[in-house]
Amino acid sequence: MDFSSKILENAVNEVSRLPGIGKRTALRLVLHLLKQPAENTKYLSEALLHLRNDVKTCEKCHNISDTVLCDICQNPKRNPEIVCVVEDIRDVMAIESTAQFKGLYHVLGGKISPIEGIGPQNLQIDSLINKVKQGEIKELIFALSSTMEGDTTNFYIYKQLQKFDITTSTIARGIAVGDELEYADEVTLGRSIINRIPFEQSIKS
Ligand SMILES: [Zn+2]
Repeated sequence: MDFSSKILENAVNEVSRLPGIGKRTALRLVLHLLKQPAENTKYLSEALLHLRNDVKTCEKCHNISDTVLCDICQNPKRNPEIVCVVEDIRDVMAIESTAQFKGLYHVLGGKISPIEGIGPQNLQIDSLINKVKQGEIKELIFALSSTMEGDTTNFYIYKQLQKFDITTSTIARGIAVGDELEYADEVTLGRSIINRIPFEQSIKS
């Protein structure tokens, strides 16, 4: 691409670093911003800076939050004895949209993936085990996507927890293998949480 302006080229390069955005799309977005009132670009830049500088992760569940403890962990109506283990905030949002789950979450921040070099030490697994050790949790519901990495992660955590007196279950899958949670429709996902099955049963089948 030949640019008549270095400033324009620089903006296009920065935007095209985002996932799924090629140079052509980046150019279209940047030219769109140039046609809009200057405030719009100001608000966009401020929102992005605010996001990067000020967003926190909840101390308890590791979900993205504006405060030290997220709204879900702070809500006295939620049952802290039931904890749903998920990969990231998108899964929390998907499950919350079903309005079928009244426990808390534990956000791992990913899945064990030897190919990508992600091991248990790179995820929020120790803090989950600690919560279980402290006796805060009676039931853990695994709600990771049913990919090989998801299954490996579930099984790793399950093994670590066998010596503790807790129930482990996994969401019943109306969801096909390999589908990500965030793409499941609300009714299917809601039902799969209500009809969760004991984890032992899921690994035998
Ligand atoms: Zn939280």
